[in-house]
Amino acid sequence: MSDSRGFGEYPLGLESMAVHAGREDLSELGVHALPIDLSTTNPLPGIDLGGASYEAMALGGRPSEGGLVYARLWNPTVARFEDALAQLEHAEAAVAFASGMAALSALLLARQQECGRALHVAAIRPLYGGTDHLLGSGLFGHSVTYGAEHEVAAMLRADTGLVVLETPANPTLDEVDIAAVVRAAGAVPVVVDNTVATPILQNPLDHGAAYVLHSATKSIGGHGDAVGGILACTEERARAIRRVRAITGGILHPLAAYLLHRGLATLPVRVRAQQDTAVLLADFLRERPEVLAVHYPSLDQGRSAVGQLRGPGSLLSFELAGGFAAAERVVSRFRLATHAVSLGGIDTLVQHPASLTHRPVPPEARPHAGLLRVSVGLESGHDLLADFRAALATLNSAN
Ligand SMILES: *Cc1c(COP(=O)(O)O)cnc(C)c1O
Repeated sequence: MSDSRGFGEYPLGLESMAVHAGREDLSELGVHALPIDLSTTNPLPGIDLGGASYEAMALGGRPSEGGLVYARLWNPTVARFEDALAQLEHAEAAVAFASGMAALSALLLARQQECGRALHVAAIRPLYGGTDHLLGSGLFGHSVTYGAEHEVAAMLRADTGLVVLETPANPTLDEVDIAAVVRAAGAVPVVVDNTVATPILQNPLDHGAAYVLHSATKSIGGHGDAVGGILACTEERARAIRRVRAITGGILHPLAAYLLHRGLATLPVRVRAQQDTAVLLADFLRERPEVLAVHYPSLDQGRSAVGQLRGPGSLLSFELAGGFAAAERVVSRFRLATHAVSLGGIDTLVQHPASLTHRPVPPEARPHAGLLRVSVGLESGHDLLADFRAALATLNSAN
């Protein structure tokens, strides 16, 4: 909540904010760790007050003195995490969900409700496979036009209610110029999936985006043990999203909220350490004859070409000259890295997007058959390079 933010007069630096955001009142409460509130229902102070608070929350507002009423509408542990993430994303508010896809679904429904008609979405490819799948499914009566960054103006129709983009994109790490898309979108709000960059390396709202989306399952949680999603935006937009959440019931569980909030404290140091190793790995792979191309954001003097990214991050992908057969072989030979989907966690994960995360994407938009995506973890760079060297070496041996 904006009235409880900050410590005194000065704005906090990113690292301090990551540690302290959402914990402003803990000393006052006489506790040190984040409290977890598991109540599914709450005693009501009276019929009128309880009813008024229920109505406020059902319409997307915050609880009033009538109390919290029921945990599908509001949970204090979840609200702490939301306040913290909102601060890190320079937003007025954030709304947390049981998964990233639940968050995106709620956004589509909220926009549809705000527009008062079936929603048309303009989406810039490449996108996370699940996002591509949901947009293309038409599940909510919505429709989608896919295109490239420079095609946004041509993709817009009278009924377009949302522009969706992801930058850097997954798995190609292509950068999309958020401000340019926002300009081309005019009055249509733009949502940026910031899962890969994290709020440590990029803040889309500062470039004019209306919403930021995170799969908190990835870097925010960071330890591969909690699923969650979150949207950050203005309080007015948040009300429409909370209303959908109250009606459809996608709220994040408080135990997951605790883990995701705890993850925020170490997010800056994890992102930087993982990024340092990713830079080493990208350099190593560029020199290898088995590798056709390495996809990793290039930063000139610490800034990306479009001036959004503050660092290249911990996700990279590379294309093997041997195509699918080589990818299949290499992926089974790692000892330190794990062959698994997901990203942003403490350990290194390698996966084959064309057959896994991007399987639902139509063939023409699917990644290269020899492309492997690497989410670099916190292992030592020395050990990780040795693992990759050994795995690639199997391509040149007979067995
Ligand atoms: C994982 C992911 C999602 C979906 O989030 P879930 O928490 O798995 O529902 C969306 N966007 C990106 C970029 C992701 O990596």
